Amino acid sequence: MDKQGFTTGIVHGDRITGTEHGGVRQSIHTSVQYGFERVEDLIGVFQGTKKGGFNYARQGTPTTAALERKITSLEQGVGSICFSTGMAAITATFLTLLRAGDHLVSSKFVFGNTNSIFGTLRGLGIEVTTVDACDADNVKNAIKPTTRMVFVETVANPGTQVPDLQRIGEICAERGIVYFVDNTITSPALFRPKAVGASLVINSLTKTIAGHGAALGGAVTDTGLFDWSAYPNIADEYRRAPSKEQGLTQIRKKGLRDMGGALSSEQAHSIAMGAETLALRVQKSSDNALALARFLEKHEAVGRVFYPGLESHPQYAIAQRLFKGASWLLAFELRNADRMIDVVNALQLPIKATGLGDTRTLIIPVAPTIFFEAGAETRKAMGISDGMLRLSAGIEDTEDLIADFDQALKLAVA
Ligand SMILES: *Cc1c(COP(=O)(O)O)cnc(C)c1O
Repeated sequence: MDKQGFTTGIVHGDRITGTEHGGVRQSIHTSVQYGFERVEDLIGVFQGTKKGGFNYARQGTPTTAALERKITSLEQGVGSICFSTGMAAITATFLTLLRAGDHLVSSKFVFGNTNSIFGTLRGLGIEVTTVDACDADNVKNAIKPTTRMVFVETVANPGTQVPDLQRIGEICAERGIVYFVDNTITSPALFRPKAVGASLVINSLTKTIAGHGAALGGAVTDTGLFDWSAYPNIADEYRRAPSKEQGLTQIRKKGLRDMGGALSSEQAHSIAMGAETLALRVQKSSDNALALARFLEKHEAVGRVFYPGLESHPQYAIAQRLFKGASWLLAFELRNADRMIDVVNALQLPIKATGLGDTRTLIIPVAPTIFFEAGAETRKAMGISDGMLRLSAGIEDTEDLIADFDQALKLAVA
């Protein structure tokens, strides 16, 4: 698939790797248990000597395995594990690879629930330092002998900060630290974290990859770049696997099997269907986001606009160099925050809802909703003002979106 184009690979992948009856898509396998003619095969699946077998759906089904192959191929990795949600994938990875006394360095601009998980990790004795990762020196200076992992998001939600992804990758490689990158906002259609040295990549499949807002899912992918044989926290029983497989083996056994956040076959199928149009959708929604960002930036009622595709964005050059497009995520501030409720209510097309990476444009005021629980202090530290609105651009016709914002923003002109 690597030699083919991105979308060709997605739409023909299932058929080429094999389906029953020549189906062009993977079937939905609903069995929880898998039976065998010979008990030796059952034993082989349990012991991992019979490759590709299934025994109990919490550890995977043929349908989730097909989606895992698809994600691996999209990220050009060596393997992936699907979970019931993006948070399940992130949490299982942290909890299975980090131990009490270990140190994690993270960008301070991360998804709200990921930030909340850091509190849980601290309670378990894992030290977490958050830094402004837009400057790689901040990451470098935070590293200590106990640092095992660096975590960043490609484009931060909602402020759209882009870390110095390449430099951070070099720093992690020099020191043998796991580089864990959340690619949810960009998706492999716009960026492959492997290109900057990521060890592990997480995607919330709920967002860009499914695109329809009708299924939850997450995946962690091993890029094959990290040498797990040198990583101290791999349990002895997983050291028997080749170095490249040790990290994912531990995440699959200790994270997926034991913690139980398994993706269902029905959801996996729904995500795989959505993924077929990934590149087409992301292109259109990125075009819409750029058009809206340019429109908003010039509008007298609008203050700051946060979008990495604008020349005014502090990481514009990095986004241009690394990403095929600046994604569908943007945020902006009204000059007069008091007009926010009226403006949002006047919008006809954007759905007033949380969620990201949907075919429909979604809008949400950030401070009173997704960052409400975080509190005023955290919001201030993250640069989230009371009047900030987050927009997830959909695939609607551009002129319709601009016309709608044009009429709604009239309410905010003094
Ligand atoms: C939504 C999101 C997640 C979590 O994904 P879920 O599937 O909702 O659990 C993680 N990271 C980022 C950047 C997200 O936007």
